[in-house]
Amino acid sequence: MFHSARLKLTFWYLIIITLISVIFSLVIFSGINSELSRFEHLHQLRIEREENGLPSPIFPRRITYIDPDMIAETRQRITIVLILINLGIISISGGFSYFLAGRTLRPIQEMVDEQNRFIGDASHELRTPLTALKTSMEVSLRNKNMTVDLARETLQDDLSEVNDLQTLTDNLLLLTQYQKTNGNIIFESIMLSDILNEAKKKIAHLSSPKNIKIVTNHINYHVYGNLQSLLELFIILLDNAIKYSPNKSTILISAEKSDGFITVKIKDKGIGIPEKDIPFIFDRFYRADLSRTKNISSSFGLGLSIAKRIIELHNGRIDAESKPGIGTTFIIQIPAKK
Ligand code: ADP
Repeated sequence: MFHSARLKLTFWYLIIITLISVIFSLVIFSGINSELSRFEHLHQLRIEREENGLPSPIFPRRITYIDPDMIAETRQRITIVLILINLGIISISGGFSYFLAGRTLRPIQEMVDEQNRFIGDASHELRTPLTALKTSMEVSLRNKNMTVDLARETLQDDLSEVNDLQTLTDNLLLLTQYQKTNGNIIFESIMLSDILNEAKKKIAHLSSPKNIKIVTNHINYHVYGNLQSLLELFIILLDNAIKYSPNKSTILISAEKSDGFITVKIKDKGIGIPEKDIPFIFDRFYRADLSRTKNISSSFGLGLSIAKRIIELHNGRIDAESKPGIGTTFIIQIPAKK
């Protein structure tokens, strides 16, 4: 598809270059031609004036004779030279146009490839819970001795799969929404402590059952950002910190100001991330060492890619430091001012 588009674009570039070159050559030719005609005309005039015994100051004296054949030959030579120049320009610009068409189409090709990858990844992720649901329903339907209790239990499992599916589609929508957003969200000066306290409230239903304490330290700074997206960012990071931490552990949030940025650190004492996985955890659908996380439901590897996109929209930075078995710290830099 891209090859034929590239050839079409090359063709149009070539047409434009050829048109410009031909118009330019015609202008040059008509200019030279009119000069040659003027020359012929003046020569004719001089001959007539000399025949009548009149002086001819309008023509250089040293040129005594002009050969009309020479003028015709000059015209012919100029025409040939211009044709050759045009052919040269067309053949050189053919290759150049092909190269230029490739460069023009490359970002579009990358975008389409990225979209196809996204659709492929999303379909793959949707397939797993859908297959589990289908199998569970088929087995239940075939079971002639299904009791009400067993039916209830099966429905409970299916509901949990549906909830996972909902989380996945919600996250996919959120990611798409942030990928579409290009500088058209409202930024304002917001108190970091307000965002963090709100995020803590929103994930209390996850931290309370695990008896996890979230401690905040020096968070009274203003950041310049979008309230809703920053709230989503901290919910994602706190949700992960809770998800990957043992019961009764503590999550520490601290902040400091430096070089126009507010640096926020979210430190947990959870399972940590193996060093080899750290460079990839912000990639879409990436889950570090699946064997450690398979019993954690709603883990699709989308949270950190959403977090990264939010930080990119804020012209900030997000990094992770981690030691397996000791814990993980996410370091976020958000601009303090506009
Ligand atoms: P998920 O939904 O799987 O948590 P994320 O994109 O949020 O997806 O995270 C990607 C992966 O990074 C996770 O699967 C997990 O392996 C790892 N990870 C993220 N946060 C933490 C954390 N606080 N502690 C340990 N591992 C983490």
